[in-house]
Amino acid sequence: LIELRDVNKHFGQLHVLKDIDLTVGRGEVVVVIGPSGSGKSTLCRAVNGLEDVESGTILIDGRPLPPEGRELARLRADVGMVFQSFNLFAHRTVLSNVALGPVKVRGRAKADAERRARELLDRVGLADQADKYPAQLSGGQQQRVAIARALAMDPKVMLFDEPTSALDPEMINEVLEVMQGLAAEGMTMIVVTHEMGFARSAANRVVFMADGRIVEDRSPDDFFTRPESDRAKDFLSKIL
Ligand code: ATP
Ligand code: MG
Repeated sequence: LIELRDVNKHFGQLHVLKDIDLTVGRGEVVVVIGPSGSGKSTLCRAVNGLEDVESGTILIDGRPLPPEGRELARLRADVGMVFQSFNLFAHRTVLSNVALGPVKVRGRAKADAERRARELLDRVGLADQADKYPAQLSGGQQQRVAIARALAMDPKVMLFDEPTSALDPEMINEVLEVMQGLAAEGMTMIVVTHEMGFARSAANRVVFMADGRIVEDRSPDDFFTRPESDRAKDFLSKIL
């Protein structure tokens, strides 16, 4: 469903993505981990077309990521993204946050979009919060709204970039549970996270990045019990 071939990217002199090859099949959950600055966020942003790359190809569902224009907007809508900071529209209600994209980008009727938004809010456990504003919700609730908002676009893939790292500890699990549910329902997901419990229980593969390269790409069990590279061993010794 997602295929990156020999992708390279620089920020000025800094080579942030080096010869990245990565394939994510339909229904697969791939957890990306690695030290700060290793290129995890840049990788996510490249898959979403938010960051252009200098060489290599990125295919989403067999179609190359186009450089610009309406095609890019459509492909981007196929790739839902949830960030560390929730980026909700502060002056819109929760319901409107979730319903807006389908109306603006997918051309849905407002009533349909709102009906579907209520279903999605129910699914993330927030049916009773639809008429509130983001500032009236906890961080964990806001992040669940952000997930519902991404799902409202009917994405083929969901990207999560450290979705729980800005949350207070007691709110992390409510977000991880929603993500576990999505994974169990067969959503294709790329998840950048340091939540190793999630990686162990939900991931089909763990991709370990260091210095812009994919250093390991293996099953969670292999990766956590038998890391091969010194970089991965060193990283695991610091976080486990
Ligand atoms: P973290 O775990 O801290 O989120 P990361 O693995 O997500 O790190 P990236 O955000 O992808 O790392 O950044 C990779 C490298 O590219 C870093 O050295 C970062 O400073 C640099 N970088 C990221 N975005 C930009 C930018 N817009 N302009 C210049 N340099 C950037
Ligand atoms: Mg990052």
